[in-house]
Amino acid sequence: MVLVFSDDDKLCLEILSKGNELAKELSKKLTAVIIGKSDDALARKYIAHGADTVVVAETDLDSFKAEEYTGILENILKETKPEIILIGSNKNGKELAPRLASKLGAGCVTDCTNLYVKNKKLTAERIVYSGNAVAIEQFTSRPNIVTIPRKVFEPLPKNEKHSGNIVKKKVEVKKTASKVLKVQEMQTGDVNVEDAEIIVSCGRGFKNKDDIKLINELAEVLKGRTVGCSRPIAADLKWLSEDHWIGLSGHKVKPRLYIAVGISGQIQHIAGMRDSGIIVAINKDPEALIFKSADYGIVGDLYQVVPKLTNAVKEKMG
Ligand SMILES: Cc1cc2nc3c(=O)[nH]c(=O)nc-3n(C[C@H](O)[C@H](O)[C@H](O)COP(=O)(O)OP(=O)(O)OC[C@H]3O[C@@H](n4cnc5c(N)ncnc54)[C@H](O)[C@@H]3O)c2cc1C
Repeated sequence: MVLVFSDDDKLCLEILSKGNELAKELSKKLTAVIIGKSDDALARKYIAHGADTVVVAETDLDSFKAEEYTGILENILKETKPEIILIGSNKNGKELAPRLASKLGAGCVTDCTNLYVKNKKLTAERIVYSGNAVAIEQFTSRPNIVTIPRKVFEPLPKNEKHSGNIVKKKVEVKKTASKVLKVQEMQTGDVNVEDAEIIVSCGRGFKNKDDIKLINELAEVLKGRTVGCSRPIAADLKWLSEDHWIGLSGHKVKPRLYIAVGISGQIQHIAGMRDSGIIVAINKDPEALIFKSADYGIVGDLYQVVPKLTNAVKEKMG
């Protein structure tokens, strides 16, 4: 069996797609797990996106706590005995997977970017050394636990005709040593670079904070309206909030179009946007690294190029 869990529904749909592929290849069944309040609509959605079974572990928990979720999943895994366990690599999943691996004495590959069977062994690829190399790792024991970040795999198209079982279990949650005292939502504003279709990003090529309006105008006419930035703009200069920060230590994005303006293209920035559909770079230095990752490059002063590009797009879009 291949088993999939994420407390992020969207991410769960993405990893279900890879789980479905692996299950078919290995002639296994695919199970998804939901922990929390019973949610038939969500369970049916998972079935329509490839799950053969959805186990709903019904609890009264209203927030994630790693020890509790590990205990619940551990019990489900002991009953269902999956060979492969795919966990969404969001903040919670990152805490959950290694705990689970340690409880089960299993191997755990984190932040995997490709997954396939080779020589009958599950083989995982992940990016290492800030994106300078790809590690290819194979499991030597079972079960195999893998965490997968967002936007690595596309969900399967919804198939309402796909049938599956929903298995509901009432779960008693064991008391744990730690206690959540307070949950404080981060102030994120309305920027969501991770889901954006079009991103216009600015870097240290901008001389003043006010000049970022050039980027806002271009983003606006492109109907993308999403502005991203390199680390110095958010972390050092604080011209934009951290929600805009793209890269290794910022957000990982996968828009259809990514326009990098005044960004040099250091590997740590590329690590966050390399999966974008079309990459356009604007930089006055023809030798800038960003051009190696770009599909289209404009060599020129951003203060001249960006307003012209904005006007050209405005005309084109009517
Ligand atoms: C552990 C670690 C993690 C990191 N994580 C991240 C991360 O998540 N995201 C990230 O972005 N960085 C990250 N960095 C920093 C990264 O290494 C670079 O320092 C950073 O990306 C550089 O930002 P930049 O391209 O905006 O600035 P610069 O490297 O200074 O580049 C500015 C560019 O603008 C061009 N330019 C200047 N004036 C103009 C003009 N008038 N017109 C056109 N072009 C112009 C220049 O030619 C230059 O290429 C990290 C570094 C470390 C060590």
